[in-house]
Amino acid sequence: MDDAKETARENAMDTFTAFILENEPAIRLGVFFGVFAVMIAWEVAAPRLRLALPRSRRWPANIGIVVLNTLLVRLIFPVLPVGVAAWAAGEGYGLFNWLDVPAWLAALLSVLILDCAIYAQHVVFHKVPVLWRLHRMHHADQAIDVTTGARFHPIEIVMSIVIKMAVVTAIGAPAAAVVVFEVLLNGTAMFNHANVRLPTWLDKALRLVIVTPDMHRVHHSWLRQETDSNYGFNLTWWDRLFGTYIAQPSAGHDGMTIGLQIFRDAGEQRLDRMLTQPFR
Ligand SMILES: [Zn+2]
Repeated sequence: MDDAKETARENAMDTFTAFILENEPAIRLGVFFGVFAVMIAWEVAAPRLRLALPRSRRWPANIGIVVLNTLLVRLIFPVLPVGVAAWAAGEGYGLFNWLDVPAWLAALLSVLILDCAIYAQHVVFHKVPVLWRLHRMHHADQAIDVTTGARFHPIEIVMSIVIKMAVVTAIGAPAAAVVVFEVLLNGTAMFNHANVRLPTWLDKALRLVIVTPDMHRVHHSWLRQETDSNYGFNLTWWDRLFGTYIAQPSAGHDGMTIGLQIFRDAGEQRLDRMLTQPFR
């Protein structure tokens, strides 16, 4: 009986893995454009705040940097984290390739560990001055909306991929779990940066598990103690566990200033200015 159940579970997991890996590009693009479109529609229908700078001043560079990062990653990486996961599995490297745990459990734990690792990486990028120089470009946006969620300096993007490859190899994350994690992160980052209004009860309920736009907006306050809080992108648990959770901005959402105390000139929202911000 138990054996039959176990076999059925393994078959379901194999089907799931095959589906994810065979349709990887479609899943990635579908979620990216799907969530992006839904968030824009939601931002227009029910905006949370009046944007301090209009979209026309921010979107060209915010979208430009996504295109630039995508091209750069394709150019310099012969293999990406999902490829590293497949390689590690073939070579038998990493925790879950040594341990005899069911595939579904290895996948679930891998997504959790990767989320915790991304949280830790985010904290480090705030605390180490030279890394903060790279990451602060993300925070220099003077308004936050769906496009802010993908606005990262190319050097930070490259470093993130290398770090993720190291974590994937160390834990022996299944390739499908890496895809699921990356797609989830992409979707939730666009959601929690979006300038959308959620009913208070829904925000409260979601926050028990996932990061909401109101929660993440605190992280984009120009007050340093608030910038250094709410580091999570998917799960809210790491911030609560490690004491970096701040429920609301001290000045209120309508009164808070978004961005940094430096780079206040509107010209800083130009792509060339953004790229040089780490070096100034
Ligand atoms: Zn940050």
